[in-house]
Amino acid sequence: MNRVITVPVASLRRPHAGSSGLTQLPPLALYIHLPWCLSKCPYCDFNSHEAPEGGLSGVPQEAYLDALRADLEASLPLIWGRSVQTVFIGGGTPSLFEPQAIDRLLTDVRMRVRLAPDAEITLEANPGTFERARFRDFRQAGINRLSLGVQSFSDTALKALGRVHDRAQALAAAQSAAEDFPTFNLDLMYALPGQSTEALQADLTQALSFEPPHLSYYHLTMEPNTLFASRPPQGLPSDDEAAGMQETIEQVTAQAGLEHYEVSAYARLGHRSRHNLNYWAFGDYLGIGAGAHGKLSFHDRIVRQARLRHPRAYMEAALRGEAVEEERTLSRSDLPFEFMLNALRLVDGVPATLFAERTGLSLASIGGALKRAVERDLLDPDPARLRPTELGLRFLSDLQEGFLG
Ligand code: SF4
Repeated sequence: MNRVITVPVASLRRPHAGSSGLTQLPPLALYIHLPWCLSKCPYCDFNSHEAPEGGLSGVPQEAYLDALRADLEASLPLIWGRSVQTVFIGGGTPSLFEPQAIDRLLTDVRMRVRLAPDAEITLEANPGTFERARFRDFRQAGINRLSLGVQSFSDTALKALGRVHDRAQALAAAQSAAEDFPTFNLDLMYALPGQSTEALQADLTQALSFEPPHLSYYHLTMEPNTLFASRPPQGLPSDDEAAGMQETIEQVTAQAGLEHYEVSAYARLGHRSRHNLNYWAFGDYLGIGAGAHGKLSFHDRIVRQARLRHPRAYMEAALRGEAVEEERTLSRSDLPFEFMLNALRLVDGVPATLFAERTGLSLASIGGALKRAVERDLLDPDPARLRPTELGLRFLSDLQEGFLG
Protein backbone atom coordinates (compact mmCIF):
# COMPACT_ATOMS: atom_id res chain seq x y z
CA MET A 1 0.00 0.00 0.00
CA ASN A 2 1.16 3.53 -0.65
CA ARG A 3 1.74 5.50 2.48
CA VAL A 4 0.12 8.91 2.33
CA ILE A 5 1.78 11.79 4.17
CA THR A 6 -0.32 14.92 4.34
CA VAL A 7 1.73 18.07 4.83
CA PRO A 8 0.49 21.55 5.72
CA VAL A 9 -0.05 23.76 2.67
CA ALA A 10 2.16 26.53 4.07
CA SER A 11 5.20 24.29 4.22
CA LEU A 12 4.93 23.58 0.51
CA ARG A 13 5.04 27.17 -0.56
CA ARG A 14 8.78 27.61 -0.16
CA PRO A 15 10.85 24.66 -1.35
CA HIS A 16 13.92 23.95 0.78
CA ALA A 17 16.97 24.12 -1.44
CA GLY A 18 20.15 22.16 -1.45
CA SER A 19 19.29 19.10 0.66
CA SER A 20 19.81 15.54 -0.44
CA GLY A 21 17.69 13.79 -3.09
CA LEU A 22 17.25 15.13 -6.59
CA THR A 23 20.27 16.72 -8.20
CA GLN A 24 18.21 18.33 -10.95
CA LEU A 25 14.54 19.01 -11.45
CA PRO A 26 12.64 17.23 -14.26
CA PRO A 27 10.93 19.03 -17.15
CA LEU A 28 7.72 20.81 -16.18
CA ALA A 29 4.32 20.58 -17.93
CA LEU A 30 1.03 22.36 -17.26
CA TYR A 31 -2.31 20.54 -17.25
CA ILE A 32 -5.53 22.61 -17.27
CA HIS A 33 -8.85 20.88 -16.57
CA LEU A 34 -12.12 22.19 -18.05
CA PRO A 35 -14.73 19.95 -16.43
CA TRP A 36 -17.98 20.26 -18.41
CA CYS A 37 -19.50 17.97 -21.05
CA LEU A 38 -22.79 18.10 -22.93
CA SER A 39 -23.78 14.88 -21.14
CA LYS A 40 -22.08 12.20 -19.07
CA CYS A 41 -20.98 9.10 -21.02
CA PRO A 42 -21.92 5.85 -19.22
CA TYR A 43 -18.32 4.52 -19.16
CA CYS A 44 -16.63 7.75 -18.03
CA ASP A 45 -14.87 8.03 -14.69
CA PHE A 46 -13.19 11.37 -15.38
CA ASN A 47 -14.05 14.46 -13.39
CA SER A 48 -16.65 15.60 -15.91
CA HIS A 49 -19.96 17.28 -15.17
CA GLU A 50 -23.00 17.77 -17.31
CA ALA A 51 -23.13 21.35 -18.57
CA PRO A 52 -25.66 23.46 -16.68
CA GLU A 53 -29.00 24.11 -18.29
CA GLY A 54 -28.51 25.82 -21.62
CA GLY A 55 -25.67 23.52 -22.68
CA LEU A 56 -22.90 25.53 -24.28
CA SER A 57 -24.28 28.84 -23.13
CA GLY A 58 -24.82 27.57 -19.58
CA VAL A 59 -21.11 27.03 -18.88
CA PRO A 60 -19.77 29.93 -16.75
CA GLN A 61 -16.71 30.40 -18.93
CA GLU A 62 -15.48 33.77 -17.69
CA ALA A 63 -15.95 32.91 -14.01
CA TYR A 64 -14.10 29.63 -14.51
CA LEU A 65 -11.24 31.40 -16.29
CA ASP A 66 -11.00 33.84 -13.37
CA ALA A 67 -10.70 30.85 -11.04
CA LEU A 68 -8.01 29.22 -13.19
CA ARG A 69 -6.02 32.43 -13.21
CA ALA A 70 -6.23 32.71 -9.41
CA ASP A 71 -5.29 29.03 -9.08
CA LEU A 72 -2.25 29.52 -11.32
CA GLU A 73 -1.15 32.64 -9.45
CA ALA A 74 -1.42 30.86 -6.09
CA SER A 75 0.74 28.04 -7.52
CA LEU A 76 3.52 30.20 -8.96
CA PRO A 77 5.81 30.01 -5.88
CA LEU A 78 5.98 26.25 -6.45
CA ILE A 79 7.42 26.61 -9.96
CA TRP A 80 9.47 29.83 -9.80
CA GLY A 81 12.12 30.08 -12.46
CA ARG A 82 11.09 26.91 -14.30
CA SER A 83 9.91 26.94 -17.89
CA VAL A 84 6.84 25.05 -19.03
CA GLN A 85 7.49 22.67 -21.93
CA THR A 86 3.94 21.57 -22.75
CA VAL A 87 0.38 22.62 -21.99
CA PHE A 88 -2.54 20.21 -22.15
CA ILE A 89 -6.10 21.53 -21.91
CA GLY A 90 -8.18 18.48 -21.03
CA GLY A 91 -11.54 17.61 -19.60
CA GLY A 92 -14.40 17.21 -19.71
CA THR A 93 -14.91 18.73 -23.14
CA PRO A 94 -12.63 21.76 -23.46
CA SER A 95 -13.97 22.46 -26.95
CA LEU A 96 -17.24 23.50 -25.27
CA PHE A 97 -15.40 26.71 -24.42
CA GLU A 98 -15.42 29.49 -27.01
CA PRO A 99 -12.18 30.05 -28.93
CA GLN A 100 -12.02 33.55 -27.37
CA ALA A 101 -12.06 31.92 -23.93
CA ILE A 102 -9.21 29.57 -24.90
CA ASP A 103 -7.37 32.61 -26.25
CA ARG A 104 -7.79 34.41 -22.93
CA LEU A 105 -6.73 31.29 -21.03
CA LEU A 106 -3.50 30.97 -23.00
CA THR A 107 -2.80 34.69 -22.62
CA ASP A 108 -3.29 34.35 -18.85
CA VAL A 109 -0.84 31.45 -18.85
CA ARG A 110 1.75 33.20 -21.02
CA MET A 111 1.67 36.29 -18.83
CA ARG A 112 2.41 34.26 -15.71
CA VAL A 113 4.70 31.38 -16.64
CA ARG A 114 7.71 31.04 -18.88
CA LEU A 115 6.40 28.98 -21.79
CA ALA A 116 9.07 27.27 -23.93
CA PRO A 117 9.11 28.85 -27.43
CA ASP A 118 8.34 25.47 -29.03
CA ALA A 119 5.81 24.41 -26.39
CA GLU A 120 3.33 21.72 -27.45
CA ILE A 121 -0.14 23.09 -26.67
CA THR A 122 -2.89 20.48 -26.90
CA LEU A 123 -6.64 20.95 -26.69
CA GLU A 124 -9.05 18.04 -26.26
CA ALA A 125 -12.08 18.38 -28.49
CA ASN A 126 -15.19 16.35 -29.14
CA PRO A 127 -16.88 16.02 -32.52
CA GLY A 128 -20.21 16.91 -30.87
CA THR A 129 -18.93 20.49 -30.51
CA PHE A 130 -17.56 20.66 -34.04
CA GLU A 131 -17.87 23.70 -36.27
CA ARG A 132 -15.13 24.31 -38.80
CA ALA A 133 -14.68 27.99 -37.96
CA ARG A 134 -14.58 27.22 -34.26
CA PHE A 135 -11.79 24.64 -34.67
CA ARG A 136 -9.81 27.06 -36.86
CA ASP A 137 -10.15 29.72 -34.20
CA PHE A 138 -8.72 27.33 -31.61
CA ARG A 139 -5.67 27.08 -33.85
CA GLN A 140 -5.53 30.88 -34.08
CA ALA A 141 -5.64 31.07 -30.28
CA GLY A 142 -2.37 29.13 -30.16
CA ILE A 143 -3.43 25.49 -29.99
CA ASN A 144 -0.89 23.52 -32.03
CA ARG A 145 -2.12 19.99 -31.33
CA LEU A 146 -5.73 18.81 -31.36
CA SER A 147 -6.76 15.62 -29.58
CA LEU A 148 -10.10 14.51 -30.91
CA GLY A 149 -12.33 12.18 -28.88
CA VAL A 150 -13.79 10.21 -31.78
CA GLN A 151 -14.03 6.82 -29.97
CA SER A 152 -15.58 5.20 -33.07
CA PHE A 153 -16.76 6.06 -36.57
CA SER A 154 -19.67 3.63 -36.32
CA ASP A 155 -23.09 5.06 -35.49
CA THR A 156 -24.05 1.79 -33.77
CA ALA A 157 -20.97 1.84 -31.54
CA LEU A 158 -21.32 5.54 -30.76
CA LYS A 159 -24.89 4.96 -29.68
CA ALA A 160 -23.88 2.02 -27.49
CA LEU A 161 -21.24 4.25 -25.88
CA GLY A 162 -23.80 6.98 -25.20
CA ARG A 163 -21.84 9.55 -27.19
CA VAL A 164 -23.59 12.75 -28.29
CA HIS A 165 -21.89 12.82 -31.72
CA ASP A 166 -22.49 10.68 -34.78
CA ARG A 167 -20.34 9.30 -37.59
CA ALA A 168 -20.85 12.33 -39.84
CA GLN A 169 -19.66 14.72 -37.13
CA ALA A 170 -16.69 12.47 -36.36
CA LEU A 171 -15.65 12.46 -40.02
CA ALA A 172 -15.99 16.23 -40.37
CA ALA A 173 -14.07 16.92 -37.16
CA ALA A 174 -11.25 14.51 -38.11
CA GLN A 175 -10.99 16.19 -41.52
CA SER A 176 -10.65 19.57 -39.85
CA ALA A 177 -8.02 18.25 -37.41
CA ALA A 178 -6.00 16.91 -40.35
CA GLU A 179 -6.22 20.12 -42.37
CA ASP A 180 -6.09 22.84 -39.75
CA PHE A 181 -3.55 21.63 -37.14
CA PRO A 182 0.17 20.90 -37.46
CA THR A 183 -0.35 17.67 -35.55
CA PHE A 184 -3.32 15.84 -34.08
CA ASN A 185 -4.46 12.75 -32.25
CA LEU A 186 -7.54 10.60 -32.69
CA ASP A 187 -8.82 8.89 -29.53
CA LEU A 188 -10.50 5.57 -30.30
CA MET A 189 -11.85 2.67 -28.25
CA TYR A 190 -12.07 -1.05 -28.92
CA ALA A 191 -13.78 -4.07 -27.35
CA LEU A 192 -17.05 -2.16 -27.65
CA PRO A 193 -20.49 -3.69 -27.03
CA GLY A 194 -21.38 -5.88 -30.02
CA GLN A 195 -18.13 -5.00 -31.86
CA SER A 196 -16.85 -7.66 -34.24
CA THR A 197 -13.29 -7.87 -35.58
CA GLU A 198 -14.64 -6.68 -38.94
CA ALA A 199 -16.21 -3.65 -37.30
CA LEU A 200 -12.94 -2.88 -35.53
CA GLN A 201 -11.10 -3.10 -38.84
CA ALA A 202 -13.58 -0.76 -40.48
CA ASP A 203 -13.02 1.78 -37.69
CA LEU A 204 -9.27 1.44 -37.98
CA THR A 205 -9.32 1.85 -41.76
CA GLN A 206 -11.50 4.91 -41.45
CA ALA A 207 -9.22 6.45 -38.82
CA LEU A 208 -6.09 5.76 -40.88
CA SER A 209 -7.65 7.37 -43.96
CA PHE A 210 -6.97 10.73 -42.25
CA GLU A 211 -3.27 9.80 -41.92
CA PRO A 212 -3.25 10.71 -38.22
CA PRO A 213 0.22 11.45 -36.82
CA HIS A 214 -0.98 10.00 -33.50
CA LEU A 215 -3.61 7.46 -32.42
CA SER A 216 -4.67 6.57 -28.89
CA TYR A 217 -6.55 3.27 -28.84
CA TYR A 218 -8.12 2.37 -25.48
CA HIS A 219 -9.70 -0.88 -24.36
CA LEU A 220 -13.23 -0.10 -23.08
CA THR A 221 -13.18 -1.04 -19.41
CA MET A 222 -15.91 -1.00 -16.77
CA GLU A 223 -14.60 1.54 -14.26
CA PRO A 224 -16.08 1.71 -10.75
CA ASN A 225 -18.71 4.41 -10.14
CA THR A 226 -19.85 4.54 -13.75
CA LEU A 227 -23.20 3.63 -15.21
CA PHE A 228 -21.61 0.75 -17.15
CA ALA A 229 -20.13 -0.67 -13.92
CA SER A 230 -23.59 -0.97 -12.37
CA ARG A 231 -25.34 -1.94 -15.62
CA PRO A 232 -22.78 -3.53 -17.96
CA PRO A 233 -23.74 -3.31 -21.62
CA GLN A 234 -24.66 -6.46 -23.56
CA GLY A 235 -22.41 -8.09 -26.12
CA LEU A 236 -18.96 -7.16 -24.80
CA PRO A 237 -16.20 -9.11 -26.57
CA SER A 238 -14.48 -11.83 -24.52
CA ASP A 239 -10.92 -11.30 -23.21
CA ASP A 240 -9.55 -13.45 -26.04
CA GLU A 241 -11.48 -11.50 -28.64
CA ALA A 242 -10.27 -8.22 -27.13
CA ALA A 243 -6.66 -9.48 -27.16
CA GLY A 244 -7.11 -10.39 -30.85
CA MET A 245 -8.38 -6.86 -31.52
CA GLN A 246 -5.34 -5.37 -29.78
CA GLU A 247 -3.08 -7.47 -32.04
CA THR A 248 -4.98 -6.31 -35.12
CA ILE A 249 -4.54 -2.68 -34.04
CA GLU A 250 -0.80 -3.18 -33.54
CA GLN A 251 -0.36 -4.86 -36.93
CA VAL A 252 -2.47 -2.47 -38.97
CA THR A 253 -1.04 0.68 -37.38
CA ALA A 254 2.52 -0.62 -37.92
CA GLN A 255 1.74 -1.20 -41.62
CA ALA A 256 0.52 2.40 -41.75
CA GLY A 257 3.84 3.69 -40.34
CA LEU A 258 2.70 4.33 -36.78
CA GLU A 259 5.00 3.15 -34.03
CA HIS A 260 3.48 1.52 -30.96
CA TYR A 261 5.35 3.44 -28.25
CA GLU A 262 3.09 3.20 -25.20
CA VAL A 263 0.44 0.70 -24.07
CA SER A 264 -2.35 2.62 -25.84
CA ALA A 265 -0.45 5.08 -28.06
CA TYR A 266 0.81 4.93 -31.65
CA ALA A 267 2.68 7.70 -33.46
CA ARG A 268 4.58 8.63 -36.56
CA LEU A 269 8.18 9.72 -36.16
CA GLY A 270 8.33 13.10 -34.42
CA HIS A 271 4.67 13.06 -33.34
CA ARG A 272 4.72 11.31 -29.96
CA SER A 273 2.74 13.23 -27.37
CA ARG A 274 5.41 15.26 -25.58
CA HIS A 275 3.01 16.08 -22.76
CA ASN A 276 2.19 12.44 -22.08
CA LEU A 277 5.82 11.36 -22.50
CA ASN A 278 6.63 13.71 -19.65
CA TYR A 279 4.10 11.88 -17.41
CA TRP A 280 5.53 8.51 -18.41
CA ALA A 281 9.10 9.65 -17.77
CA PHE A 282 8.01 10.73 -14.26
CA GLY A 283 8.37 14.41 -15.15
CA ASP A 284 6.70 17.23 -13.25
CA TYR A 285 3.33 18.79 -13.98
CA LEU A 286 1.30 21.50 -12.38
CA GLY A 287 -2.40 20.65 -12.67
CA ILE A 288 -4.92 23.47 -12.35
CA GLY A 289 -8.71 23.34 -12.64
CA ALA A 290 -11.43 21.34 -10.91
CA GLY A 291 -10.14 17.94 -9.78
CA ALA A 292 -6.77 18.41 -11.50
CA HIS A 293 -3.82 16.41 -10.20
CA GLY A 294 -0.22 17.57 -10.14
CA LYS A 295 3.23 16.23 -9.31
CA LEU A 296 6.02 18.62 -8.42
CA SER A 297 9.61 17.96 -7.44
CA PHE A 298 11.84 19.98 -5.14
CA HIS A 299 15.41 19.31 -4.20
CA ASP A 300 14.33 17.49 -1.06
CA ARG A 301 10.97 15.94 -1.89
CA ILE A 302 8.32 15.10 -4.46
CA VAL A 303 4.76 16.24 -3.88
CA ARG A 304 1.42 15.21 -5.34
CA GLN A 305 -1.55 17.58 -5.32
CA ALA A 306 -5.26 17.21 -6.05
CA ARG A 307 -7.69 20.09 -6.42
CA LEU A 308 -11.35 20.26 -5.36
CA ARG A 309 -13.42 18.25 -7.80
CA HIS A 310 -16.75 20.01 -8.00
CA PRO A 311 -16.62 23.01 -10.38
CA ARG A 312 -18.61 25.34 -8.12
CA ALA A 313 -16.62 24.50 -4.96
CA TYR A 314 -13.39 24.70 -6.95
CA MET A 315 -14.20 28.12 -8.40
CA GLU A 316 -15.03 29.60 -4.99
CA ALA A 317 -11.93 28.15 -3.33
CA ALA A 318 -9.59 29.04 -6.21
CA LEU A 319 -10.51 32.72 -5.91
CA ARG A 320 -9.32 32.56 -2.29
CA GLY A 321 -6.12 30.81 -3.39
CA GLU A 322 -7.31 27.57 -1.75
CA ALA A 323 -8.06 25.26 -4.68
CA VAL A 324 -5.82 22.46 -3.43
CA GLU A 325 -7.77 19.84 -1.51
CA GLU A 326 -4.99 17.36 -0.86
CA GLU A 327 -1.23 17.52 -0.84
CA ARG A 328 1.10 14.70 0.07
CA THR A 329 4.79 14.12 -0.05
CA LEU A 330 5.75 10.83 -1.63
CA SER A 331 7.73 8.69 0.78
CA ARG A 332 10.89 6.85 -0.28
CA SER A 333 8.90 3.62 -0.33
CA ASP A 334 6.26 5.16 -2.66
CA LEU A 335 8.74 6.26 -5.29
CA PRO A 336 9.81 3.01 -7.02
CA PHE A 337 6.20 2.00 -7.73
CA GLU A 338 5.16 5.52 -8.75
CA PHE A 339 8.09 5.69 -11.17
CA MET A 340 7.52 2.21 -12.65
CA LEU A 341 3.76 2.72 -12.90
CA ASN A 342 4.55 5.34 -15.54
CA ALA A 343 7.88 4.36 -17.12
CA LEU A 344 6.96 0.73 -17.81
CA ARG A 345 3.99 1.79 -19.93
CA LEU A 346 6.53 2.78 -22.57
CA VAL A 347 7.24 -0.01 -25.04
CA ASP A 348 10.94 0.97 -25.17
CA GLY A 349 11.05 1.79 -21.48
CA VAL A 350 13.46 4.48 -20.25
CA PRO A 351 17.22 4.74 -19.66
CA ALA A 352 18.07 3.07 -16.35
CA THR A 353 19.78 6.29 -15.18
CA LEU A 354 16.41 8.08 -15.24
CA PHE A 355 15.31 6.23 -12.11
CA ALA A 356 17.92 7.94 -9.89
CA GLU A 357 17.50 11.24 -11.72
CA ARG A 358 13.75 11.41 -11.13
CA THR A 359 13.39 9.70 -7.72
CA GLY A 360 16.66 10.58 -5.96
CA LEU A 361 17.03 6.88 -5.08
CA SER A 362 19.78 4.56 -6.30
CA LEU A 363 18.94 1.77 -8.70
CA ALA A 364 20.59 -0.60 -6.22
CA SER A 365 17.78 0.18 -3.77
CA ILE A 366 15.38 -1.77 -6.02
CA GLY A 367 17.91 -4.42 -7.07
CA GLY A 368 15.81 -7.28 -5.64
CA ALA A 369 12.61 -6.24 -7.41
CA LEU A 370 14.48 -5.75 -10.71
CA LYS A 371 16.07 -9.20 -10.43
CA ARG A 372 12.72 -10.86 -9.74
CA ALA A 373 11.08 -9.09 -12.70
CA VAL A 374 13.89 -10.23 -15.03
CA GLU A 375 13.64 -13.81 -13.70
CA ARG A 376 9.91 -13.81 -14.46
CA ASP A 377 10.66 -12.59 -18.01
CA LEU A 378 8.63 -9.43 -17.39
CA LEU A 379 11.60 -7.05 -17.62
CA ASP A 380 14.35 -6.88 -20.24
CA PRO A 381 17.74 -7.99 -18.77
CA ASP A 382 19.57 -5.06 -20.49
CA PRO A 383 21.06 -3.15 -17.50
CA ALA A 384 21.13 0.12 -19.46
CA ARG A 385 17.33 0.31 -19.84
CA LEU A 386 14.23 -0.30 -17.78
CA ARG A 387 12.09 -1.88 -20.45
CA PRO A 388 9.15 -4.28 -20.25
CA THR A 389 9.36 -7.49 -22.27
CA GLU A 390 6.43 -8.47 -24.50
CA LEU A 391 5.16 -10.60 -21.63
CA GLY A 392 5.70 -7.70 -19.22
CA LEU A 393 3.58 -5.40 -21.38
CA ARG A 394 0.83 -8.01 -21.51
CA PHE A 395 0.90 -8.47 -17.72
CA LEU A 396 1.81 -4.89 -16.91
CA SER A 397 0.08 -4.68 -13.51
CA ASP A 398 2.00 -7.76 -12.33
CA LEU A 399 5.23 -6.16 -13.43
CA GLN A 400 4.43 -2.79 -11.83
CA GLU A 401 3.22 -4.31 -8.57
CA GLY A 402 6.62 -5.94 -8.11
CA PHE A 403 7.89 -2.44 -7.20
CA LEU A 404 5.34 -1.69 -4.48
CA GLY A 405 7.05 -0.56 -1.25
S1 SF4 B 1 -17.13 13.36 -23.37
FE1 SF4 B 1 -15.28 12.46 -22.45
S2 SF4 B 1 -15.02 13.48 -20.46
FE2 SF4 B 1 -17.11 13.93 -21.20
S3 SF4 B 1 -18.40 12.38 -20.21
FE3 SF4 B 1 -17.84 11.58 -22.23
S4 SF4 B 1 -15.94 10.39 -21.89
FE4 SF4 B 1 -16.26 11.68 -20.07
